[in-house]
Amino acid sequence: MPITTTVAHALRQLLALGLERLDAQLLLLHVLARDADDRAWLIAHDTDLLSPATIALLNAAALRRASGEPLAYITGHKEFFGLDIQVDPRVLIPRPDTETLVEWALELLAPTSHAARVLDLGTGSGAIALALQHARSDLDVLALDFSSDALAVARANAQRLQLPVGFVQGSWMSGLQGKFSLIVSNPPYIASADHHLAALQFEPLTALASGSDGLDDIRTIIGQAPAHLLPGGWLLLEHGYDQANMVRTLLEAAGWKGVQSRRDLSGTERCTGACFDDTDHLVQTTSLTVSC
Ligand code: GLN
Repeated sequence: MPITTTVAHALRQLLALGLERLDAQLLLLHVLARDADDRAWLIAHDTDLLSPATIALLNAAALRRASGEPLAYITGHKEFFGLDIQVDPRVLIPRPDTETLVEWALELLAPTSHAARVLDLGTGSGAIALALQHARSDLDVLALDFSSDALAVARANAQRLQLPVGFVQGSWMSGLQGKFSLIVSNPPYIASADHHLAALQFEPLTALASGSDGLDDIRTIIGQAPAHLLPGGWLLLEHGYDQANMVRTLLEAAGWKGVQSRRDLSGTERCTGACFDDTDHLVQTTSLTVSC
């Protein structure tokens, strides 16, 4: 772009590169260090000249976006459940679909359940754990990930948002101590040969792919969760658009109760959950709204 580019001209240039209008506006706001809510500013200032430094930043950002890099990695931010989550290529970008899992978890956690313990498996950026802790300050939330890189991102998010989530590194629940009222997870669930992975090449493969049918990690979690749930505790899992039936079958075969799925905003069965009814224990946990 020439050094005398105006706001309006820069936007036209970005569209000519093939960028969507919204992405172009958000990239320009980002390099101007303005809020993503400030799109009206771009209209009010359409004849303002951009500085050479801004134009250089914008050119670099536009090339990244035009090569397919997700906007959230370029801006470093993604909104999730009303929270500003910082992201980079060490973590999966939180998806709106996953808000379904958070809503379900919040419904299950009775308002009176003080300090109910909740575990978020494969926390990535920390989005789910942080959303739960933000909505319910009384919860005792532990977020786990195998990746120390992901945990560094999640910890930084917790610190910036001042949310007292605990963090632990681990390979799912092996070696983990303690029992929880609720376990939630958005694990990797894409089949390793699925062509959709090509479109997700900027995100960490370990957060996406899980064996030949995409269910390896879900099987592990379903196998390990009973040892870490209080009697009557629930497990909620996000999964792929075509996996609800399989996940329900896996849970039912393992003797879980109340097996059911929830749809995301686009109507896809996106999460499946069940409760663990340990008949050896007579005392049911009182911290959830729905018992086994
Ligand atoms: N929902 C993501 C996608 O399909 C995948 C996330 C995951 O594997 N947990 O783009």
